[in-house]
Amino acid sequence: MKTLIIGGNFAGITAALELKRKLKKEHEVVMIDKSPLFLFIPSLIWVPFGRREVKDISFRKDELLKKKGIEFIQAEALDVDTEKQVVNTTKGAIHYDHLVIATGPKVAFDVAPGVKEYAHYIGTPQGAMKARKALEEFKKDPGPIVIGATQNAGCMGAAYEFLFNTEKWLREQKIRKKVDLYWITPETFLGHFGIDGMTGGESMLKSFMKLFNIHYRTEVGVEEVREDRVILSTGEELPSKFTMLMPPFVGVDFVKNSTGLEATANGYIPVTDDYRHESIPNIWAAGIAVDVKLPFKPGKVPFSSPKTGYPSDETGKIVAENISRIINGKTELKKKAWGKIPGICVMDAGKKEVIILSDTLFKPRKFALMIPNVIYDFSKVLFEKYFLWKTRHGYSMLP
Ligand SMILES: Cc1cc2nc3c(=O)[nH]c(=O)nc-3n(C[C@H](O)[C@H](O)[C@H](O)COP(=O)(O)OP(=O)(O)OC[C@H]3O[C@@H](n4cnc5c(N)ncnc54)[C@H](O)[C@@H]3O)c2cc1C
Repeated sequence: MKTLIIGGNFAGITAALELKRKLKKEHEVVMIDKSPLFLFIPSLIWVPFGRREVKDISFRKDELLKKKGIEFIQAEALDVDTEKQVVNTTKGAIHYDHLVIATGPKVAFDVAPGVKEYAHYIGTPQGAMKARKALEEFKKDPGPIVIGATQNAGCMGAAYEFLFNTEKWLREQKIRKKVDLYWITPETFLGHFGIDGMTGGESMLKSFMKLFNIHYRTEVGVEEVREDRVILSTGEELPSKFTMLMPPFVGVDFVKNSTGLEATANGYIPVTDDYRHESIPNIWAAGIAVDVKLPFKPGKVPFSSPKTGYPSDETGKIVAENISRIINGKTELKKKAWGKIPGICVMDAGKKEVIILSDTLFKPRKFALMIPNVIYDFSKVLFEKYFLWKTRHGYSMLP
């Protein structure tokens, strides 16, 4: 029996390690990933400011996987033939009994003209390093800055983090007074975060905007980005010398090119609450690859919900548990709808932070807390150190 896992970052590495731990030697686990590195993506927001180097937040996962008895193939998965149970990759065809899709997102830079050419995106090591270089240049001749999320985006939290870190960096560089800082978002209100907000969140973010003198526009989309401005869906033109935008995420090309996968129009895998494909029983999905229904009423400008690290890790664990149950002849599977997974997240605000905790990610919730910490961002630092330590050692069973 062989389980093939495509994608090995948050969701995929957890699924692989857990599966190997639960099934030991009798089951073959193979992982395909384009990259041999595990990357702690949440800390990429610090790379443009030199607070982290990419090497500080990544490590070679192929060595860890080998030690754990998991075969790692550095390749790109091209498509899957679900009838023959074969994945075609840049290094040949691979057969599977169970297939786990943990391929994360593709960034839809084509959401509006000029986004790819003129806006920075800090969600990849290359993008974060490019933004670092641009900020060094910007320092010499400062001007207005626009930061935000485009229509259909879901990962607003990371853009908020980058906004507050930029504000702090501008003060450190002693150029804050020369910069008009703008936040633009499709959210219906500040701090919606694609999860319909949390009690006190909107007023907290409004007070941050006032405190740090950040101009903001809610319920706006991006019509076009040019070298020196951002044109909004309202027709307003914001001058900008440095633009960073979070575009929408869609499913990766592997999913879109696999017609037999019956994926959604935007390339996500339709699963039941056990993370098994709705109609192909030996295909599973975890992390961002999972299709999640919109948990709120859409506003004037469309946006979506975030798929963060904690639920990505959790769904990797559930998939491993369920595959091991099936292989052990059990029929009852573990179920936990995406929206019922607890919300655990930290929004870094540049040596300050907001800790976000709730019993479930989506409403209705029994409790939801947003705890500001204005002294230091030690929770995010702790989260980073803990997650890298746990993953580097293969302790996938830990929360
Ligand atoms: C800038 C930024 C900041 C963030 N901050 C936070 C935060 O503070 N807290 C939080 O909880 N979450 C945060 N997130 C979200 C978090 O990073 C994601 O939830 C998490 O990475 C999702 O895990 P995943 O395994 O589904 O996808 P990914 O981590 O994206 O992993 C997907 C893997 O699949 C591989 N892959 C893709 N396609 C193929 C293919 N065809 N063949 C082979 N390999 C393939 C990729 O190489 C990659 O290794 C942030 C995201 C961004 C972009």
